[in-house]
Amino acid sequence: MERRTKIYEGKAKILYETDNPDLVIQYFKDEATAFDAKKRGIIEQKGVYNNRISSVLFEYLKRQGVRTHFVRQLSDREMLVKRLEIIKVEVVVRNMSAGSLSKRLGFEEGIALAEPVLEFFYKEDALGDPLINDDHVRLLGLATPQEVRAIRKRALLVNELLREFLETRDLILVDFKLEFGRHHGQLLLGDEITPDGCRLWDKQTLEKMDKDRFRRDLGKVEEAYQEVCRRICE
Ligand code: UDP
Repeated sequence: MERRTKIYEGKAKILYETDNPDLVIQYFKDEATAFDAKKRGIIEQKGVYNNRISSVLFEYLKRQGVRTHFVRQLSDREMLVKRLEIIKVEVVVRNMSAGSLSKRLGFEEGIALAEPVLEFFYKEDALGDPLINDDHVRLLGLATPQEVRAIRKRALLVNELLREFLETRDLILVDFKLEFGRHHGQLLLGDEITPDGCRLWDKQTLEKMDKDRFRRDLGKVEEAYQEVCRRICE
């Protein structure tokens, strides 16, 4: 599959056109950003680990009947995916308190939530990706009420499937972010599922094995991505 014109370059990935208008290539970079891109850095080999991790997780979700944009892994850093009209909503699912939920609601980090908590954020850098509710989604015309219902259902199913998969690899899925898009009118799970957008803790030691190591300068960042990749891909 030939890589053609660059369509879009984001913080961690580049999208390229292919000779098929329905398919695009996601190229995973080593660049990392945090705190609205105020903090920037490189995590060596992150692109390779993230491409592999995401490919394995999308394959697994696909086998379980979840509709995703994933077609196949092409190379170390490239993945072939279906072209999406992205829905500008970041869908966060939480199983334990951490990050912005801890800050917003005054929960100390690491409390198990009785039920998964789902949140929507408006994907708009200029506004700092604010937390929004279903009414705001409707007000902004981001998705139809029917799509919102499907997104909720799909995100909770993905949570159950990923939790189970990761648990057997000694990883706790604390929280994660998903993005959805439309492909010929069909709602598909898009983007990536990697330690950049998931909080993953070691089941025994509760050690953080995700981008929080970069955000909070905890050290051993590359090692954490490598270890997650080893546990998920082997
Ligand atoms: N997340 C993400 N992209 C964002 C914001 C959050 O991938 O722009 C992920 C983040 O890695 C975490 C989850 O979504 O796994 C919840 O993040 P939170 O709202 O706690 O924000 P944070 O404090 O991480 O900025």
